[in-house]
Amino acid sequence: MEKEYLWNTYKRYDLVLKRGKGCYLYDYDGRKYLDFLGGIGTCSIGHANGKLVNAIKKQAGKLLNASNLFYTEEQVRLAKKLAELSGLSKCFFSNSGTEAVEAAIKLARQYTGKNEIICMKHSFHGRTFGSLSATWDKKIKIPFGPMLKKFVHIKFNNIEVLKKSITKNTAAVLMEPIQGEAGVLIPDRGYLKKVSKICKEKNVLLILDEVQTGAGRTGKFLAFQHENIKPDIVVMAKGLANGVPIGVTLAGKKVADLLLPGMHGTTFGGNLLSMQAALTVIQIMEEKKLIKNAKLMGKYFLNELKKIKSDKIKEVRGKGLMLAMELNVKGAPFVEKCLKKGLIINCAHDYNLRFLPPFIISKTEIDKGVGIIKEVLK
Ligand code: PLP
Repeated sequence: MEKEYLWNTYKRYDLVLKRGKGCYLYDYDGRKYLDFLGGIGTCSIGHANGKLVNAIKKQAGKLLNASNLFYTEEQVRLAKKLAELSGLSKCFFSNSGTEAVEAAIKLARQYTGKNEIICMKHSFHGRTFGSLSATWDKKIKIPFGPMLKKFVHIKFNNIEVLKKSITKNTAAVLMEPIQGEAGVLIPDRGYLKKVSKICKEKNVLLILDEVQTGAGRTGKFLAFQHENIKPDIVVMAKGLANGVPIGVTLAGKKVADLLLPGMHGTTFGGNLLSMQAALTVIQIMEEKKLIKNAKLMGKYFLNELKKIKSDKIKEVRGKGLMLAMELNVKGAPFVEKCLKKGLIINCAHDYNLRFLPPFIISKTEIDKGVGIIKEVLK
């Protein structure tokens, strides 16, 4: 039926999932899978968290969407919380990462009156035309061309190239603090700080796409907080509402205030189900100190991965619970083999086994997963 009724846009694993609990997923035969993929980084506090389930149920019984033509308490409460946690001032809510990136591009062009956006090679920002134009991989763009004009792609983790690339027409630099889809590429310490300094000197906006790195994944609420900088615009989505669709574009007050009524909008963005889910997820993260756990467990996980001896491993990288094992052979067969042994992971950019587990993960679960990875590599 899937072949008959759904677009053929996804290559799926041979598995029908029924439910999840904590760090585990279950199929229809009751088989249990350790989930090191977490809905591609969307499952931050674990599957079927009781408190979140109740908050969602309660909200569904109260109000789902009244439209953005009215004030709603939950929207304002979440925006205030995100402003406090990020150090930025104002939010625009949407429904996905790609939409949140679109809002950032529009805001940057409108605020600066310039149109050139500097992006990074190997970046991924989404699948709608603005975010796709900002994305690096030509394979996913060529069939749908032409892309939007004035998106320039430069070398990641190279300050000299960035300095040379900024022109009088540059509106913004748009980049991920850690490139997720490219296989968890982590720039040198201090790189982001230098990027921020150059952007300020040259009067260019810095937009950070924290769709994958944000909401605690790297051991801080936002990855830029490791470097103590202040970007102009920050984009979040994925883990913020634990799988309920949400996108947020955060900006400083001066930048955000330029978009006036009617200039941007969305029917579902800011709906109360997503707002309530995100508020509850943040509350649970704070109560259970889950971002600290992401940092601690991330360190442990990385160390355990580093202990694996195999001539197939090129490099192991990670920050918090965003980790990858780069192989010198294609990763897809190993993903399949892990699945057969009850471990869910995925492969980013052909050669990188990627791990994005929920922040509630324990050492026992990491040991179990790493044990399977070790066996499979043998
Ligand atoms: N930006 C980054 C860094 C991402 O990793 C992704 C998705 O993987 C996106 C944007 C697009 O987000 P979405 O799939 O929610 O549209």
